[in-house]
This record gives sequence, structure tokens and C-alpha cells, in this order.
Amino acid sequence: MGLLHIPGKKMNPRAAPYILLVISAVQGFRYSELEQHVNSKQEEYVEALREWVAIESDSSNVLKRPDLHHMMEKAAQKLRLMGGMVELVDIGQQELPDGQTLALPKVVTAQFGSDPNKRTVCIYGHVDVQPAKMDDGWATDPYNLTDINGNLYGRGASDNKAPVLAWIHAVEAYQALHMELPVNVKFIIEGMEETGSNGLEDMIVAQRDIFFSDVDYIIISDCGWLSRRPALTYGTRGNCYFFAEIEGPKQDLHSGVYGGTVIEPMTDLIGILDTLIDPNGKILIPGIREAVAPLSDEEWKMYQDIQFDLENYKNKIGVDQLMYNSKVDLLAHMWRYPTVSIHGIQGAFSDHGTKTVIPAKVVAKFSIRQVPNMDPAVVKKQVTDYLHLVFSKRKSPNKLKVTMVIGAKPWLADTQDPVFEAGKAAIKRVFNVDPDLIREGATIPIARTFQDVTGKSIIMMPIGGFDDGLHSQNEKMSRYNYIEGTKYFIAYLHEVSLIKKTSV
Ligand SMILES: [Zn+2]
Repeated sequence: MGLLHIPGKKMNPRAAPYILLVISAVQGFRYSELEQHVNSKQEEYVEALREWVAIESDSSNVLKRPDLHHMMEKAAQKLRLMGGMVELVDIGQQELPDGQTLALPKVVTAQFGSDPNKRTVCIYGHVDVQPAKMDDGWATDPYNLTDINGNLYGRGASDNKAPVLAWIHAVEAYQALHMELPVNVKFIIEGMEETGSNGLEDMIVAQRDIFFSDVDYIIISDCGWLSRRPALTYGTRGNCYFFAEIEGPKQDLHSGVYGGTVIEPMTDLIGILDTLIDPNGKILIPGIREAVAPLSDEEWKMYQDIQFDLENYKNKIGVDQLMYNSKVDLLAHMWRYPTVSIHGIQGAFSDHGTKTVIPAKVVAKFSIRQVPNMDPAVVKKQVTDYLHLVFSKRKSPNKLKVTMVIGAKPWLADTQDPVFEAGKAAIKRVFNVDPDLIREGATIPIARTFQDVTGKSIIMMPIGGFDDGLHSQNEKMSRYNYIEGTKYFIAYLHEVSLIKKTSV
């Protein structure tokens, strides 16, 4: 992108050779040597991933906590051996439901280089995983990385161990060829992402003016592409999760004996749930749709250019018809409009068979995905007021209680930011295509936390494939994405170094 980084210090004669050096380094980016190096190291990289996948670093299972500690230590040791300044930061204890406490896995931080004339990027990743066992329906042992037709199957392969390793390999490659890193590189690697990043936000707040003080950009590689075309991610939806409880008689009742005499909590609950969203996907809660940022022409055009096949999408999820029939409408509703999803009803009869019960108390669980410019605090009030209004019209003697248990904000980046230009240039160099600019419909709260706490620019640079099966059976990372992804990160470190420093 032709952005030349010249340190903005006053010119003096002694500085001239240094500037020349910078220019020649920029002009002489020896990418093909780095690329060849990565090709020659492919088997070693796969072996490194195999070793990481073999560690059952399942953060949701307290019995696996020793494995998780081992995983953090292994990641730290890898970075130490590369000469990084590495710390294992204690983030305290986790309180378990039975009142006991358990040490949280330490957060690994590392630093390579501290040249004030260079840009500093900070790579965020996690090395904990979702649970996995053969009984869940895996075709191969989830903790024994298995290569089938160029796909590397194993729990955590794509989410998020291979992307973290790819960043590490990118730094290693510069080191191996005795090339100076074009930017200072920091890492922050956690071990509780899959269970809500327990303890991380406090750590980021505490480190804001220390570890993050010289960071220019924060990079997250913890999601996937939309198709086979590489993508940069510039937004994620937030989520507000609600419980709506309706309480009636003091105990469950027999429908043969009491049916017809009592006003049933379940009927009330179904009645109010049915007023949240209409069959065409229109949210009926007043004020929600009005808060959504309008779709601009440029955005519409961006969606138009994205590679996305509606038929494939339908086949993948096994449906004949979707809520919208055009690509733009579908992508927009996947990423940039809110939606209501009803997840379950606690207290309802849900076993096999035919129990004739009238449940005394039922709790509906539903969530509303958040997008700019919605505000979870406002949404909480809108939903609560609306449900109480709707419920009051039923003139039911039962009691309604509405609570919001999660209120995660959306994250949105400016795609005109130079970090995105650098990403586009790196993708062009390695894959020889222009990337899709995409959003995630899901919530990755850490992006918003980084943005709010540090005020730095954030970019998501996924290398996962669209069909990697994150959190699912047979999760995989393709060799292609892993190896080419490493090259892409190498190229990115170069491209991002070219962004001019405006505030030197
Ligand atoms: Zn992840």
C-alpha cells in the first residue's frame, strides 16, 4: 500500500544512515526467502500443533486444570526459547459453584523487541479448548492430531491453537533468517476463553498503562473465513441474554384434576414469548429496530462483493428455506441486524413420554444479538417494560419476573483504518486475491473489552476455514490455512510496519 514509515524525529546528519537503512529494509523485504523457509518447516509446524493438541486444555472441566496449567507453561516456554521477554501473569482464583476456589490459568505475555521507532503489535490468542470425547461422535481421537487429506483433525486445532502457533512461527521465521522484526511484537495468551475469559478483563485494566502502553494495534485471530476466500473481520455482534420467569400455583398440578380451573404459567409464558418476534423475523419490541444503525450504500456494496453461496449455506445447515432469499439481506441479518432467539424453557416437561403436568413455575431463556447503535442497558429496559405491558393485558394472576443475565456490547472497527489496509496488502501478497471484509454474527467480548479499555485499533485476522467445525465434533485446521496463514502473518508484520507514525 506504499505507506512508508520514516521516524518523525528532527533530521540530523547522524540520523541519515539510519533512515536509509529503514528505507532499504522496506524496499528489501525478502518475502520469498521467508516463504521458502515456511515451506521447509511445514512438518515441524504440524508437529508443534500435534504436541499442543495432545494437551487436554479444556477450561470448562475443573479436573483438567493441571493440563491447562501445563498448556500455559508450554506456550510460555516456547516463547522463552525464542528469546522473548515472557511473563506468566497470575490472574487469581476461580470460585466454583460449591464455594471452593481453584487457581485460574496464568496469562502468558511476551515481548519481542522494544524499539520506540517501530510500530508495536499485540497478538491475542487462547490455548484452552472446548470439551471433546470420542463418544460425542468424533471419527478420530480428538487429542491425537490426525491428518486426513490435508486436514488436521483435533480439538483446538482451529480454535485457537494453530492460529496462535502460526503467529509464533511468523516471528520464528524472521529470527531463523536473521532478519530484524519490522515491528515490535507482543503476545497475550489466555487459558479461559472458552468459559468466558474469567479474570482477563481485570488483568487488561491493570496492564493498560504498562503492557499495553506502547501497543499500537491489537490483533485477534480467533474466528474463520466465510468461504474459501480469505477474510478480514471488522465487527462482531453483542448479546443480551434474558430470563423471563412466570410463577403460578405453589406446586406442579395434575392437568386432569386442575386443568381448566387455574391460569397456567406455561400458557402465559408461550403467549408473551410469541410477542417478541413475528414469523418474518421482525422484532416487535418497541425501540429495538429504531436503534439499529442504517445500512449505508457502501455497506450494501461490500456485501454484494462477498463470496457467499446461499445454496451451500442451506445444505450445510439442512434447511430448504431461509428467512431471506438474497445474499445481501442474509449477510446483513447475520451480522448487522439484531435477532431474537428463544433457547429453552426451564421447568417445562421435556422428557420422553406423556406427563400430564401443569408446571407451577417456568423460566424462558432467550437472547437478543446486539449491533451498533444498540445499548444493552437500554435494551434491558425496553424488553422488561414491553414484556410486563404484554403480560398485563392477559390479566393473569401469575407473577412475571424479567432479568437480563448477560449484556455484551457489539464491536465494530473502521475498515478504513490503516491496520485493515495492511491486512488487505498482506492477503494480496500471499493469496493473490482481495479479501472479503466480513463480520461475525457471534459475540467475541474480548474485542470490545480491548477497544474500551485500551482505546487501540483492533483487527481480526482469521485463518480458520469456513468449515472447521469449531466447538463441534471433528474440528480441524487445514494444512493449507495453517501454512499459508503463517506466511500471511509474516507479510502482515511487514505491511503494518509501513504505517506512518503520526504522533512521534
Ligand atoms: Zn476461540
